[in-house]
Amino acid sequence: MNGFSHLEQEIQEWKTAGTFRPLTVLESEQGSKVIIRGKEVIQLSSNNYLGLTTHPRLKKTALEAVEKYGAGTGSVRTIAGTFSMHETFEQRLAEFKHTEAALVFQSGFTANVGVISSILTDQDVVISDELNHASIIDGIRLTKANRRIYKHSDPDDLEKALKETQNARVRLVVTDGVFSMDGDIAPLPEIVELCEKYDALVMVDDAHASGVLGKNGRGTVDHFGLHGRVHIQVGTLSKAIGVLGGYVAGPQVLRDYLIHRARPFLFSTSHPPAVTAACHAALDVLLEEPERIDRLWENTRFFKEGLTALGFETGKSETPVTPVIVGEGALAMQLSDQLFEEGVYAQGIAYPTVPKGKARVRTIVTAVHTKEELETCLHAFEQAGKKLGII
Ligand code: PMP
Repeated sequence: MNGFSHLEQEIQEWKTAGTFRPLTVLESEQGSKVIIRGKEVIQLSSNNYLGLTTHPRLKKTALEAVEKYGAGTGSVRTIAGTFSMHETFEQRLAEFKHTEAALVFQSGFTANVGVISSILTDQDVVISDELNHASIIDGIRLTKANRRIYKHSDPDDLEKALKETQNARVRLVVTDGVFSMDGDIAPLPEIVELCEKYDALVMVDDAHASGVLGKNGRGTVDHFGLHGRVHIQVGTLSKAIGVLGGYVAGPQVLRDYLIHRARPFLFSTSHPPAVTAACHAALDVLLEEPERIDRLWENTRFFKEGLTALGFETGKSETPVTPVIVGEGALAMQLSDQLFEEGVYAQGIAYPTVPKGKARVRTIVTAVHTKEELETCLHAFEQAGKKLGII
């Protein structure tokens, strides 16, 4: 079809630069092993931290919900698409997070966009870490508020921004709880102290901390003992929770406001019954099977130590997100391809997703990887790393 030559030209440039990648297609369920291009490989690239995507309890609850309530909801939440299970789950989430209320969005992405774009005006300022997730950045692009970016996890630079914006009506400081590309944890206690000192609101995006950090996976606020001092907690239901969705946990007034003003919430159909029911079952699993989180951390320590012992550079990671930083984009892709040959799937990530010269293969171990599988992965990294001259 004609009319797309401007796109074709750009795609050709990506192909020349080696950054055009077809989608990786799974031909199996999302487990510690997956089938890709007909080959069984160990999965090191999913966010399925606790292995809940295939948990029997989630699957059974989802099937029962389909039988009882159908496949879809037929409406947005604000018209005819709020089912009792949506509200019951939100109350349960709020309880879990120790907040007054919670509101579920279709994804973590739309939760961030929905909150940031709706609660501020042109008299306000949003202050954001330079490495925050794309959904926070897009939320900021959609708000009328003024914006300030502070240096990554740098309280001094944040304080400077807070001092310089004292005339604003409201300041909202936003940070990822765990940064998705480097696996480092935000210095939330320092951020909270500064926000208290300068009377600013704090919002944390716990996409990679939900189900991972804090008691039963309650996130960074619980991890640091900051309950009641962080105004807005965003989380995802798509990673450790194993299903799909995002949520905002905070005061009732925030929920009341968002259901009237957050556009992704207002103008997009609610979660199908199977999704909500499975998410609810996942919360039960977090509470009843905390050993999954223990295993996740045991596996994380084992794998990180193994990579470091082999001589790989894993940056500042403090969580199951462990980047193997190699430098050039092409080398990261070669490492990923070589790992695949060795039976391991770990995606290469290059500029613009990460800074130039910091290309990497990003790995995420899960609670359901066996020791044996992780040993196989380390052996694959050793073989591939030596072959490519990385170690
Ligand atoms: N925030 C962060 C930090 C993330 O890494 C992601 C997922 N890539 C999201 C938000 C979006 O979550 P979801 O996949 O549920 O849309």
